[in-house]
Amino acid sequence: MSRQTEILHSIPVDELTGSISVPVYQTSTFVQSEPGVHKGYDYARSNNPTRKVLEDVIANLEKGHSGYAFATGLAAIDAVVKLLSAGDEIIAVDDIYGGAYRLFTHVYQKFGIKVHYVDTTDAENILPYLNENTKFIWLESPTNPTLKVSDIATICSYAKRVGALVVVDNTFASPVAQLPFELGADIVIHSATKYIGGHSDLVAGLVVVKDAALGERVKFTQNSTGGILGPWDSFLVIRGIETIELRVREQSANALKVARFLESCPQVDKLYYPGLEQHKNHEIAKAQQNNLFGGVISFSLKNDTIEAAKKVVSSTQYFKLAESLGGVKSLVCQPALMTHASIPREKRLLSGVQDSLIRLSVGIESPEDLIDDLRQALSQIPVLEAAELQNI
Ligand SMILES: *Cc1c(COP(=O)(O)O)cnc(C)c1O
Repeated sequence: MSRQTEILHSIPVDELTGSISVPVYQTSTFVQSEPGVHKGYDYARSNNPTRKVLEDVIANLEKGHSGYAFATGLAAIDAVVKLLSAGDEIIAVDDIYGGAYRLFTHVYQKFGIKVHYVDTTDAENILPYLNENTKFIWLESPTNPTLKVSDIATICSYAKRVGALVVVDNTFASPVAQLPFELGADIVIHSATKYIGGHSDLVAGLVVVKDAALGERVKFTQNSTGGILGPWDSFLVIRGIETIELRVREQSANALKVARFLESCPQVDKLYYPGLEQHKNHEIAKAQQNNLFGGVISFSLKNDTIEAAKKVVSSTQYFKLAESLGGVKSLVCQPALMTHASIPREKRLLSGVQDSLIRLSVGIESPEDLIDDLRQALSQIPVLEAAELQNI
């Protein structure tokens, strides 16, 4: 059976009515025939049939044991951090999602959770930080916005040495390209706002675990802290999942063509895309991402100024200027002024977010139209000669 067939038919037909689309159970409570006797649902924070379908579908999609749906990606991340206790340590990828960094630093540090940030693109870099307090190794691969790729299987083997769990935020790769459980991971997280939802029309988060014991712990946290996804948004995420395979394949193919075009542009300086041979961990990405490299590309300009990049991102027609990514419509953003504006410049530069860095989220428009759009936007800034470059 193909992946697309499997995904479509993992979404059940409604048993009660035969409805081919998943019903939205807009209810807060469920009537019991006797106290404590019900059909598996008692209160909608604890469980909701629409949400339950989504949770089963994502567990199947990630080849995990069970899934849990939350109001946002950050609520999903928060539920996983809540499995820890004071004194526990996390080793995290240094290019971690800004919101996760803020949560770790400004919410959990005061509760005694310590995080070591490491460049995990060389797996050995984590070894000096591994100790008996290490509870999680927290990876994103590829990362945002410089598309760093880490060798998940090797890092999982290191984690086992101290009994740490490996958490993979699989938002950028999506389960179509990358299945972290097959590489040895223990917990997978998604901002379903991005590729899983796929239409830029909702915010949602998902957690998937590899075994029943971890599932019970996440379920306990989900019910105890209450950051669940509502039934309407659960329905929309399910509908997004129906086409995820088609979308991610198309977006990856389009992005590779766009990246090859950018490679040939005289205005472009650094180019980050795991599908290009020049990418540091291209071979690892190729092996662990099923030869699909996703729809996100970042690049900087030879004219490395805020103004030059601002001119380019304000001149595109199909690439709409907005934060977020993963939807069917292409987006462009300038991290230094948008997603990463709150990070001090020195720190931002260290993580590769130059003033002129531009991040693209490639959608499903035709790649020729997208390339034409970028060509005309880049032509708005002059091609610098070598002599001029030295003066910058
Ligand atoms: C967007 C994003 C998040 C946060 O998800 P929200 O749905 O915005 O809360 C977490 N991780 C990654 C990699 C993301 O891109």
